[in-house]
Amino acid sequence: MLSAKQIRNGFIDFFKDKGHEYVPSSPIVPKDDETLLFANAGMNQFKDIFLGLVPPSYRRAVNSQKCLRVSGKHNDLEEVGKDTYHHTFFEMLGNWSFDDYFKAEAIQWAWELFTKVWGIQPDRLWATVFAGDPTDNLPKDDEAASLWTKATSISAEKVLAFGKKDNFWEMGDTGPCGPCSEIHIDLGPDACDMKNVPGHNCRVNGGCARFIELWNLVFIQFNRLPPNASVGGQPTSELVPLSAKYVDTGAGLERIVAVLQKKKSNYDTDLFMPIIETVSDITEHRYTSKLGSKTDNAFRVIADHVRAVSFAVTDGATPSNEGRGYVIRRILRRAARFGRELGMHEPFIYKLVPVVADCLGETFPEIKARADYVSIVIESEEAAFGRTLDRGIEIFAAAARRAAKTLQKTINGEDAFQLYDTYGFPLDLTELMAQERGLKVDKAGFEELMDRQRQRARAAQKSTSLIATLTDTELPTTEDVHKYHTDSCDSRIVGWIDSEGFKNQGRIEADAEAGVILDKTCFYAEAGGQVGDRGHLESEIGQFLVENTTKVGNCVIHQGKVIKGSFNVGQTVKAVVSKDRSSTKKNHTATHLLQWALQQVLGKSVAQQGSFVGPDYLRFDFTYPLAPTAQQLKNVENLVREKIAEDLPVTCPVMPKDQAQKLGAMALFGEKYGDEVRVVGIGTEGQDQIGQAFSREFCGGTHVDKLGSIGGFKIIKEESISAGVRRITALTGAGLNAHLEKASNIVDELSAMLKAPADTLIDRVARLLEDNKRLAKELKTAAKASGSDIMAQAKQLLENCEKIGSSSIVIGQVSKTSTEQAREAIDMLKKKAKSAAIVLGFDDDGKATLLAGVTDDLVKKGLSASDIVKEIAPIVDGGGGGRPQMAQAGGKSPEKISDALAKAAELIKEKLTS
Ligand code: ATP
Ligand code: MG
Repeated sequence: MLSAKQIRNGFIDFFKDKGHEYVPSSPIVPKDDETLLFANAGMNQFKDIFLGLVPPSYRRAVNSQKCLRVSGKHNDLEEVGKDTYHHTFFEMLGNWSFDDYFKAEAIQWAWELFTKVWGIQPDRLWATVFAGDPTDNLPKDDEAASLWTKATSISAEKVLAFGKKDNFWEMGDTGPCGPCSEIHIDLGPDACDMKNVPGHNCRVNGGCARFIELWNLVFIQFNRLPPNASVGGQPTSELVPLSAKYVDTGAGLERIVAVLQKKKSNYDTDLFMPIIETVSDITEHRYTSKLGSKTDNAFRVIADHVRAVSFAVTDGATPSNEGRGYVIRRILRRAARFGRELGMHEPFIYKLVPVVADCLGETFPEIKARADYVSIVIESEEAAFGRTLDRGIEIFAAAARRAAKTLQKTINGEDAFQLYDTYGFPLDLTELMAQERGLKVDKAGFEELMDRQRQRARAAQKSTSLIATLTDTELPTTEDVHKYHTDSCDSRIVGWIDSEGFKNQGRIEADAEAGVILDKTCFYAEAGGQVGDRGHLESEIGQFLVENTTKVGNCVIHQGKVIKGSFNVGQTVKAVVSKDRSSTKKNHTATHLLQWALQQVLGKSVAQQGSFVGPDYLRFDFTYPLAPTAQQLKNVENLVREKIAEDLPVTCPVMPKDQAQKLGAMALFGEKYGDEVRVVGIGTEGQDQIGQAFSREFCGGTHVDKLGSIGGFKIIKEESISAGVRRITALTGAGLNAHLEKASNIVDELSAMLKAPADTLIDRVARLLEDNKRLAKELKTAAKASGSDIMAQAKQLLENCEKIGSSSIVIGQVSKTSTEQAREAIDMLKKKAKSAAIVLGFDDDGKATLLAGVTDDLVKKGLSASDIVKEIAPIVDGGGGGRPQMAQAGGKSPEKISDALAKAAELIKEKLTS
């Protein structure tokens, strides 16, 4: 039996033998195309070739493309698990002809591979062709139909024609398109999953699982123009023939593997079974490969979704609340929710990542390289959602019970929104759970609440960007290579942007805020983490302060304001970059050194996730699963410093991308670069020796010529910014000097304060801290001892006290204590005696303190602590007062405390016996 790997390679080798060049899959997260969330077909990476925007560098290509169909035009998320052949993530095998061969070869070769090489019985296969379309004035694709019967052994009755929906392929509303021809397989009557549907008839494109599409051959020969477009001044129909013809095919690997491994389900193949078996080991549930079984369905969904999330995260998406990140979050949360069906309440999906990496790591090495990082991201997402999921499931159940009682059987928008907003349930998860109970969700109500929330968020952040005023404007191109070799140049103003948009004539008035555009510039526009330059533009009478520099397309925009005079379009100005730039350069080169050193110390799993390079400091974000130790960070710092001390040269050649890749230059993960790239190499002199540079990175930033000028390097902070991603903040040059100056001032001040030389400060402070700790401890024990001592004395007084009826009269002098402790003692006595009049006195280092307390029952009888204190305080030459329940006095003559207490006893007895 062929393995999936052999089948994938078989496809690639078959077409290589026929002169095709193997092109690796593009990342699943398209880097240069904001209109497409995820790659959803093999043709995505060749789009510009079909559109005639770039010439192909090969005439025939073959590949296996990572695809994700979870959003937009192609969304198979709902199907996953319910059938055996629709996945979110799958591999699309394809062969391409760029104006080379056409229908005949495409059909012949597909047939040859299926029936001759792989031995699929011809009578199980069906072919479809385009039936034509009257609105587009397109005839039936007779050419393809006759090729099928002439060039292959298929019988004529197995070649069927279908309309536009099934057999005319379009990339989008406009663009390259053409008829297509598909190969379907008949899996036999048992495979039908619609037997119970009345009137169902198994047939190709009939919707049941008996006939499955394996391969789609698309013949791209038209371009669909936008409505009312014209060609050569003549109004045209919407569809015009392309000057070139292309073949674009797509075959689902998972489906073909299932057929060739004679399995009923894609999930039973070696692409999925290792994952399913691991899920089984972890959850202790058995997978029985049945459709309609809740448990089996959960297995399939989890196995599918972990592949999707692993590849998306590998290629640069991270779970978040919008865009691509939100799609990933939804898939993962869906999988976590299905985990509950298998009794899993703790994170576990992350444990499947190494299995995915094992299954597919040879074909897609990136998934192996980033497996640790992906696991960490998934685990932390699972843990975060896990905290609210169980509670959310309860809230959902309550909402579902309410909905079941309504006529519409619909969960209302507020409930769905609450589940989303508070419990992190994506709408489609709520919908899925509703569906399982035969309920619907009020999507419109949900969207309305979402809209309101978005508006609130938007109101909170007001955009002030000039760039935002640019819509559909063609901006001039700025020649900006000068940024690499000079800090000032003479340029001509060719236009400017203000709140009304782009202008290419007129005057930039005094005090105006604007984005000035020059024919050429030495200013660096913000890119690749490096900040845009600041500086000024000057004429004989005018001055424009540049606060930031940005780039739109090839146009450099100097943003700032006129601070003197005014400027005209056409005028020549001197562009002068601020001195900051030299600090920025130091930080940028140091960032490269830091990445290199981190890889030396922590290993190759360190990959750049982002960076900030400005004049004051640099920041570098990278993937690493743990917190580096202090020693590791020291080692990194030392490596960077060693290189700076060696004063090695930096060289920045521009070269073809292939050559740079062969040199092993580091590129930002998943980033798409042009054909020509700039490589920054450290450690060699001439550009031709770039191969010997110890650090080589794709980079368009500005750098120092020699490392010595960086002047020093220090890491000032290391932290975690998200699961598996660390951030280092560091200083060089002037920023480092300022930092050191400040630190040294602190040392000087400390030294003066402690009257100790700087090199003994650490010992001194350590000793102070130790003393402090010891003293605090001593104080505490002393206080405790004296406290318990007073309590003991008070108890003693109570035991030996006089009584009148059931009331105790507790009077006595105790040893020196604090008033708090004496009060506590009185409270304790009140509680113990239940009914009591208490007077305590003590000598507080030459001062007399008297405290009195009376329980409420005696207060009712007219006895008052305050009265007692007022009477006896003069005896100790003092005064005092308080409440009837508790009062206090102080005096100058402690030697008379006993007299005062005697008087108190008298007063009390008098009161209580009268
Ligand atoms: P279907 O009708 O089965 O959904 P499709 O018409 O959407 O397929 P195409 O867009 O033509 O498929 O994609 C080309 C090939 O990719 C298909 O012939 C099939 O083998 C495979 N394929 C498409 N969608 C999926 C999916 N969700 N999971 C696995 N394979 C798929
Ligand atoms: Mg489909």
